[in-house]
Amino acid sequence: TFQEVPRAPPDVIFNLTATYKADTFEKKVNLGVGAYRDDNGKPWVLPVVKKAEREIINDPELDHEYLPITGLVSFKEASIKLILGADNPAIKEKRVVAAQTISGTGANHLGALFLSRFYRKGSIVYVSNPTWANHKPIFNNVGFETRDYAYYDPKTIGLDIGGMLDSLENAPEGSIILLHACAHNPTGVDPTQEQWKAIADVMEKKNHFPFFDCAYQGFASGDLDRDAWAVRYFVERGFELLVCQSYAKNFGLYGQRAGCLTFVLRDSETALKVDSQLAKLQRAEISNPPAHGARIVSLVLNDSALFDEWVENLKTMSFRIQEMRRRLYVNLVELETPGTWNHITDQIGMFSFTGLKPHQVKVIKEKYHVYLTDNGRISMAGLSSKNVEYFAKAVDDVVRN
Ligand code: PMP
Repeated sequence: TFQEVPRAPPDVIFNLTATYKADTFEKKVNLGVGAYRDDNGKPWVLPVVKKAEREIINDPELDHEYLPITGLVSFKEASIKLILGADNPAIKEKRVVAAQTISGTGANHLGALFLSRFYRKGSIVYVSNPTWANHKPIFNNVGFETRDYAYYDPKTIGLDIGGMLDSLENAPEGSIILLHACAHNPTGVDPTQEQWKAIADVMEKKNHFPFFDCAYQGFASGDLDRDAWAVRYFVERGFELLVCQSYAKNFGLYGQRAGCLTFVLRDSETALKVDSQLAKLQRAEISNPPAHGARIVSLVLNDSALFDEWVENLKTMSFRIQEMRRRLYVNLVELETPGTWNHITDQIGMFSFTGLKPHQVKVIKEKYHVYLTDNGRISMAGLSSKNVEYFAKAVDDVVRN
């Protein structure tokens, strides 16, 4: 029956990690995957997560019953407060609803699925050029057409704000616009607050729907409020919107699949209706979400001492990454590597667009055993005090030759 099924290509990022693992070269470096590593190149279980996990497991009342269809209530409420700010008027006005999802990917999926049913038929989803490799497939899987809006300018290795505003202006009225809330993946290039205001102006004028993806809150700058600024600004401006949250990076809970999809709606009546439809969709998709990761997040977010400890852990991660950006920059400047490199320290979050061209990436992979995607994106988390100099020298070599 399935002889005619065409073979699909392997996933680029997961494939890169597999090739890296199989490489026996001692100084190999993996700058592909977007997962935090400590200065020894090892995964880091956040101390606050270990503490919360122990408490959960030692609770004699713990059972493994199903969660409600749209997830753990204390988790959802805390997630809403985290992204919107605890005193956001929209919460008091009861026009915010959420569903616990299979991490950020599941939040994107459930949001896309909901829009495919209940947003105006024939709408097009606009994503930044470039964007996270999973965005288009997620929307295409539920039947949406996706198009690009201008975003990254290879000439400046920065934001093409003029091009972006033009794209939004020229998109059909009422389009769905996917926006990275902070720490844009893959470029590390975010709009400034002034630029966000201009983006909101065009979106308001054209009646576009903001679909925020927030996978790096707190991880990007070490400041939870700052990383949520754009989402809160759009809420303040009166947009109806949705936002996807992932706890993969900021809690290091990659494999636990803890995430949340939040809708901010016009009024409380609409919120109740949307809530009921999210439950109906989720029931047929996953019945109910996994409990363990959500329990950890809920415990930490709802306990002020654990929350403070989490903020410290977040700073440990984001400051190490900022330090790696700084050291990479300093090394390249000292080597007098041709080109400008200030984008390395200007960019934010897990990823950085180096500006390396595909042929240079090929050489760096083959000659230096440094693994990164062909678009020149590196995961800063893969750099450490032990390999940053090696990497800088490799970049220097491929840029010169
Ligand atoms: N959105 C973006 C922009 C991301 O970078 C990621 C993580 N790579 C996600 C969503 C979701 O990841 P996860 O499903 O692991 O939470």
